[in-house]
Amino acid sequence: MPEHDGPPTLRAPRRADGRPVPVLHNATLEDGRRVDVHLADGLVTDVVAAAGGDPGPEDLDLTGHLLLTAPAEPHAHLDKALSFDEIGPPMGDLRSAIRAWDDHAPQLTVESIADRARRAALLLLENGTTAVRTHVNLLRGDAPLRGVHALLRVRQELADVMDVQLVALTPFVVPDAVLHEALDLGVDLVGGHPHSTPDPSGDLQRLLAVARSRGIGVDMHTDEQLNPAMLTLEELALSVRNWPGSMPVTAGHCVSLGTVAPDVLARVVRAVAESRVGIVTLPITNLYLQGWDHPVSTPRGLTAVRALLDAGVRVGAGADNVQDPYNPVGRSDALETAMLLVAAAHLTPEEAYHAVSTGAREVMSLPPAGVGCGAQADLLAIRSPTLRAAIATAPADRLVLHRGRLVATSRAERSTSFPGQG
Ligand SMILES: [Zn+2]
Repeated sequence: MPEHDGPPTLRAPRRADGRPVPVLHNATLEDGRRVDVHLADGLVTDVVAAAGGDPGPEDLDLTGHLLLTAPAEPHAHLDKALSFDEIGPPMGDLRSAIRAWDDHAPQLTVESIADRARRAALLLLENGTTAVRTHVNLLRGDAPLRGVHALLRVRQELADVMDVQLVALTPFVVPDAVLHEALDLGVDLVGGHPHSTPDPSGDLQRLLAVARSRGIGVDMHTDEQLNPAMLTLEELALSVRNWPGSMPVTAGHCVSLGTVAPDVLARVVRAVAESRVGIVTLPITNLYLQGWDHPVSTPRGLTAVRALLDAGVRVGAGADNVQDPYNPVGRSDALETAMLLVAAAHLTPEEAYHAVSTGAREVMSLPPAGVGCGAQADLLAIRSPTLRAAIATAPADRLVLHRGRLVATSRAERSTSFPGQG
């Protein structure tokens, strides 16, 4: 019987106690090899053919587990996550979701935002995600930085178990001074949504000017709608052509790019590649929010993922919203996003997993991680024989390492009454 079908054989401690692990014993790699992976100082130091025998007392026995680069979430909204039941919004498109959120926002407190954000971040961690970039709304009214204070607090609390990057999501009605205040407090990147403002070019340029004045990067919600004439992505790419690598530029959504004519697509993708703009595709939220006005031949609302990959653009994938007015479902699992990239964007399982792990880390300017000598030991071990099967079935049995430390474990028990099973 293949080992992955047998009973659990793990002998190492299963508690996520944050301790460093010296050796990952008898893990299976994506290509089927069985290996022992040696770790030190948060890095992978050696990968050798599995030696057999018993693991040491501090080692992790990964028999029957696939060992993968840990996922990264390049586009979350931890300040909104898990608010669906609290808000009770109607089902609907992006405009309807924004209205529901804006109506509820005056009731938000730093405490209530932090509580949901912490829960949402830990859901991601339990499923294997060890780095997250989250947008945080600068709110209208008297206390616009409630979300910023909440997420800065959560980032501090979780500093030992996951990396958190913050993007100031700046509505056009919020003045530059508030954005500067958020950046002074420790927010990493400038963000906004120029496509949905009265003056998309003007809003884009004012946000880029703030980033330029501070020498930092941007992460823009870009063209999150199906009208091919709304294409601020091209202006963004052309505007940042001479920006240095220390000011990384990311564009999320880019929905309209998936609707344009082939010659326009080729032109814009070339500009994106030449300007080294990273693209983040967000299948679950695009599938939910887009297409409400198209009762037949309903578009999927994803960006032109294949054309971007073919052009060598850095592409990451994430979930965007999770159980809030913008997406009533979602389980904070990168394998859910990978599954949707296979089904809705026609990526291979390997391409899909790359987008939610290594591709996402590249867009986030994080150091390389994974099963390679010198890489950061941010790893996900999942009880599955192959990557395709892992994406298909999303097994609950997982062990998660962040910088070589065991930071999360999950295990499920199942049984049936069918004779000889369970
Ligand atoms: Zn978003």
